[in-house]
Amino acid sequence: MKLFEIIEAIEHVAPPALQEDYDNSGLLVGSPQAEIKKALLTLDTTEAVVEEAIAEGCDLIISHHPIVFNGLKRLNGSNYVERVVMSTIKNNIAIYACHTNLDNVLRQGVNIKIASKLGLQETRILKPMQSALIKMTVFTPHTHADAVREALFAGGAGNVGNYDECSFNIEGKGTFRGSENTNPVIGTRGERTTLDEQRIEVLLPKNRFNEVMKSLRGAHPYEEIAYYAVPLENAWQDAGSGMLGTLEKPIQGEYFPVYVKECLKADVVRFTRPVEWVKKVAICGGSGAFLIKNALQSGADAYITGDVKYHEFFDAESRMMICDPGHYETEQFTVELFAEILSEKFPNFATRFSHTYTNPIQYHY
Ligand SMILES: [Zn+2]
Repeated sequence: MKLFEIIEAIEHVAPPALQEDYDNSGLLVGSPQAEIKKALLTLDTTEAVVEEAIAEGCDLIISHHPIVFNGLKRLNGSNYVERVVMSTIKNNIAIYACHTNLDNVLRQGVNIKIASKLGLQETRILKPMQSALIKMTVFTPHTHADAVREALFAGGAGNVGNYDECSFNIEGKGTFRGSENTNPVIGTRGERTTLDEQRIEVLLPKNRFNEVMKSLRGAHPYEEIAYYAVPLENAWQDAGSGMLGTLEKPIQGEYFPVYVKECLKADVVRFTRPVEWVKKVAICGGSGAFLIKNALQSGADAYITGDVKYHEFFDAESRMMICDPGHYETEQFTVELFAEILSEKFPNFATRFSHTYTNPIQYHY
């Protein structure tokens, strides 16, 4: 299988446009045209992971964290990043990373995976993405309205929360007059034409705009497609940071850290003073202290994330428990997402979960 096909399958779920500005997700080493036989799935691409890939005959490493993050100025093996890159190139192994774009999606993202381990229900994005939606209005002859609507949906428009194929439609009259240079499918050159038209309105994420336009061009009968697209202030509920969910049954605050520890297979959980009962839970895989205020505002009883610093624990204001089981511990299940996405699309493609424990932090009891 070609590497670009694997990348397309992953990026269909986690579009690269959803990654944060500071991130470096994508194909880090290798050619998109490379033929891939077996992929190794990991959270981090360490030197031990590369050794494992070589030993297991994997020609692709799919990782959550991008090994190349801040750019490389030289490649002489003076640090582990350079050695990983050098070794993978030498051994013909590609590295593909899918990081914050996988964090930021509602479905099949990092946080829904954590939510499922914790048994959270009624999940939604904690901090929905701003300025990421477009409203598109398209005018089409009545006769082509169904086909145009289908094309908009096929391109990725019309998805709102748990609904798809959402559109608003109004009948009306359109007029136009083509110059001598036109080659109209409908109407006559030089004469005013009045047509029964439909005005179709749909929402779409900005990152789908090109695909929606491509699909629209294939279905719309006019030489000059009559449309306009405007950016919206509405938050996009299908993408953003963190997640909020509810436990089926409330858990007493003092037992909640034990529950987190067991569900997330963590060795240690650091937490603030327990609240009485925990029902509503906010989560963010990895380093999520930046969402403590959002978690408080959401009314969450507990917020689970990693990399919380001493002073940040105070921000819970004793109104909410912060539970920190660790960065690695919250994200270790991310590799399951890669396996699920690829096995759905390519049932016969070989993937392997890395057996290398890449967490750099150890605990002493
Ligand atoms: Zn992380």
